Amino acid sequence: MDESLSFQVDLLKSQKEKLEKDNSIQSGLLGLTESAWYYINFKESVFQAGGAWKELFGVEVPVTPDREYLSGLVDGAVLYALDDIMEAEELRSPEGTDERVLSREIQVSSNKKWLEGSVKVSYDESSRPVEKYVCFKNITRYKAQYDELTYMAYYDEVTGLYNRNYFVQRLTNMVRRAGKTGAALSLVMIELLDYEKMKNSVGIINYDELLQSFGVFLQDFVSDDERIIAGHLSAQFYAVAIYDSGLTLDSTEIIRLIRARLKNPFVLSSGDELSLAANYSIANYPESGNSAFLLLEHNEFILFSMAEKGLRNSYRVFDSCLMESFMENITIEKKIENALRQKIFQLYYQPQYNIRTGKLRGCEALIRWPDTDGVFVSPAQFIPIAEKSGAIYPIGRYVLEESFSTYARWKSAAGYDGIMSINISALQIRKNNFVDTVLTLLKKYNLDPDNIEIEITETAFIENTEEAIDRIGTLRGHGVRVALDDFGTGYSSLSYLKNLPIDTLKIDKTFMDTVISDNSTGIITESLVRMVQRLGLETIAEGVENREQYEFLKKIQCDNIQGFLLGRPMPEEEFRKMILSGSAAMDGQAELLDRIALSGDKRTMDSVG
Ligand code: C2E
Ligand code: CA
Ligand code: CA
Repeated sequence: MDESLSFQVDLLKSQKEKLEKDNSIQSGLLGLTESAWYYINFKESVFQAGGAWKELFGVEVPVTPDREYLSGLVDGAVLYALDDIMEAEELRSPEGTDERVLSREIQVSSNKKWLEGSVKVSYDESSRPVEKYVCFKNITRYKAQYDELTYMAYYDEVTGLYNRNYFVQRLTNMVRRAGKTGAALSLVMIELLDYEKMKNSVGIINYDELLQSFGVFLQDFVSDDERIIAGHLSAQFYAVAIYDSGLTLDSTEIIRLIRARLKNPFVLSSGDELSLAANYSIANYPESGNSAFLLLEHNEFILFSMAEKGLRNSYRVFDSCLMESFMENITIEKKIENALRQKIFQLYYQPQYNIRTGKLRGCEALIRWPDTDGVFVSPAQFIPIAEKSGAIYPIGRYVLEESFSTYARWKSAAGYDGIMSINISALQIRKNNFVDTVLTLLKKYNLDPDNIEIEITETAFIENTEEAIDRIGTLRGHGVRVALDDFGTGYSSLSYLKNLPIDTLKIDKTFMDTVISDNSTGIITESLVRMVQRLGLETIAEGVENREQYEFLKKIQCDNIQGFLLGRPMPEEEFRKMILSGSAAMDGQAELLDRIALSGDKRTMDSVG
């Protein structure tokens, strides 16, 4: 062999060795990352492969495979690995003349491994491929973690439905789409009722299973094309969004189906059967709200107001009237906060008389809110709103402080020792500092607890927890009087009266409305007064406006009366003057009635009595 030839052979040999060395280094490294690769240079007919072919595809690949082997590999093992993947074709023959990199997640069906396949191809001027790099990387481990994270980010653990965040994201997309296409879009919301109560009574595990069953049921409405989606928004709230009501399943139909399902109990794995009750709301885009946020908020508003009214298994569509009252409530809420800050609230006092003796029994403190134009906003209107917004707590606090301090003033100025009757919202009693607040104020103003009466309605007994009801008993134990207000407007069952911790019963004005005109109301009122007195309770008739009503109440021996006839709610100075002048006694009857009837709530005229 001549010198130069042997040199060339050596050179080629060393180049081949170097190449093989490089390849084995690469393969070793890629093997570590569980990757397999091959390379083709079409122009120079170079074919190379390396890495973890065996682990990923179960095939052994030589470092420099010949063309046949490689095409066999590509068409065989790789294609086989990719066989049911649409992207396989795309991976093998990308179009276009630029250099392109494509990556796809593919699953090797033979060994259930997830791979990321990437291919980079470069082309010459006439669009013929020049070089091609292909690499497969094992991502099975990350894929599982990633899927779990995705699941956690998108789905609710208990029910398997979309979670709130993801549902809102999908809904936002739907709203955007509906805005462009003009397609109909409705959002249905479902509130499962008695959430806390049921959770406590059946236990968290059973309740989660119940929620899960309900979630599975809702999942049945979900369509693959994402036109109907369902989510578990929070605790007792679920939502279904329906895009394009061209579908047979519209919002009302979905509600009908859910209601039908809830007529039957869910059977748990323990064999227990549990029933669910719900309320439903619908908000349609764009009439009921033009964003995902408003659709949700308006649905929540409907559900909230239904729950407040104690409705069950009902549904309602959000309309503009509701929207108006909603906006009005928001404005009033703001104004209440303002009025509190600027100390605009006042208390008026309405006298109560003992019918038999004609003497002043005491008075009821009634809140007054002069609006900017001097007209009073009716407490019947703003108290319920304050209860919703939470403003009832500072309002209640103000009423207690003001009525107690007023009492102290009357006591020192006029030796007043009548009763001060104060309206207390059921919500105030739920606060665990309620008893302390009252006791502290009694001490602060040095008042006799027997002179203070709290007026509460039946809801305070029906809707409050036992703990809250016990608080009423505790206060009573300290000598504070308790009156049941508005008797006759709620459930008003006589049989439960005897178990309530009360001293006084206030017969609602509705009795007075027909007590003269309707004989049966007269009979009912008379027997009510008798029975209540037999239970040892004091009676007060509210809303007494005329002489006939007064004569009737006197005849049936009702203990006390309160009403426009004997005095309207009046400002503090006026009430003070009245007790100072001694006109509080009601002895002469007839003339006195005439005189007293002139007194009253002058500033409000007839708007707020
Ligand atoms: P309520 O406790 O039943 O108070 C009696 C209501 O009847 C008062 O209305 C009073 O002005 C009115 N009234 C009294 N006598 C007559 C009468 O002869 N004829 C007629 N037509 N009405 C009469 P007001 O002051 O508008 O209060 C409405 C409701 O607002 C009260 O009903 C009470 O539930 C609530 N409220 C008033 N002040 C307070 C308060 O300080 N705290 C709380 N939580 N609620 C209050
Ligand atoms: Ca009252
Ligand atoms: Ca009342």
